[in-house]
Amino acid sequence: MHLKNSKTIVIKIGSSLLVDKNKKIRKKWLSSFAKDIKKLKEKKKKIIIVSSGAIALGCIKMNYNKSNIKLDKSQAIASVGQIELMNLFSKIFLKSKLNISQILLTLDDTEERRRSINAKRTFENLFDLNYIPIVNENDTIATSEIKYGDNDRLASRVAQITNADTLILLSDVDGLFTKNPKKFKNAKLIKEINNLDKDIQNIHTKGITKLGSGGMNTKIEAAKICNLAGCNMVIANGLYLNPINQIEKKNNCTWFFSRISKLHARKKWIISSVSPKGELTIDDGAKRALKNGKSLLAAGIKKVSGKFYKGDHIKILDNKRQEFARGLSSFSSQEINKIIGCHSNEIGEILGYVSKSEVVHKDDMVEV
Ligand code: GLU
Repeated sequence: MHLKNSKTIVIKIGSSLLVDKNKKIRKKWLSSFAKDIKKLKEKKKKIIIVSSGAIALGCIKMNYNKSNIKLDKSQAIASVGQIELMNLFSKIFLKSKLNISQILLTLDDTEERRRSINAKRTFENLFDLNYIPIVNENDTIATSEIKYGDNDRLASRVAQITNADTLILLSDVDGLFTKNPKKFKNAKLIKEINNLDKDIQNIHTKGITKLGSGGMNTKIEAAKICNLAGCNMVIANGLYLNPINQIEKKNNCTWFFSRISKLHARKKWIISSVSPKGELTIDDGAKRALKNGKSLLAAGIKKVSGKFYKGDHIKILDNKRQEFARGLSSFSSQEINKIIGCHSNEIGEILGYVSKSEVVHKDDMVEV
């Protein structure tokens, strides 16, 4: 039901779903997962997969034991395993006629606005091209200080920057329980969390934090990020065949519902950004267009002040130099100075590269 209403869905799969305890690759499972994805694509959903498994598959290939490897060695192993991982996806997804691409992210790519806007654009272009982005942390260069460290939080950041409606964390547990289900027979699966901070206090998470590959703590952290981003999240057992279909049919999982609307979350994020780096003064026509929910185009800009980069927070002033809106600029001040007043289809020629035509996209703008 909830998936039906979701346009953009991020699905995280843990290593334990791809590789079993005997270090065998679960190809049958992955084929069934691909079929689920195919069905979602047929319903015109935008899908992003966040997959772990680079280190696990690298270990299998190189005959190492995952538990006693130091960080620098695991980074080298991940660079071998990432190829194995993508080959695996490529082979199996192709059988379901699904095209895939690879995106490797480091912490700054989602934390820094400019880089996150770039990443968001790449995701959007891949959706347009009908390719499914498969994301992992760039393990080969991420050291502990600059690491997400777990794909639960990475997936929630991806959900946040892509404005996703739902994040599915496929794990090896059914979800969140009232007590540790391994110890207590009367432990009950919690089906819905509607008020994260309040509900979590009433749950005995201590005993259940050790379950699952990423642990329950990182999943709760991911839920907090999603909650603030206006994105719903679900923890479900992914060990079954056709895991997405299972969620839709059985709903034997834990849903975290965000009470904030996505647009509200994004706008709040924009308005609460650090001090604006510059100003754009616009003409009356552009002001009218913005009031009607349109994006800001170069043609409507009269003046640029300040020095700023793509993704920076800027003020938008009207003809009387009254602050009218705030937003994130899709171009640097230097670029805007070149394209100011120009028609959107001239931008490519002036700048020498093809770019987006909106100077401030409507989703990146808040009226003040
Ligand atoms: N990025 C790691 C890998 O692909 C996995 C991290 C995680 O499992 O959370 O091996």
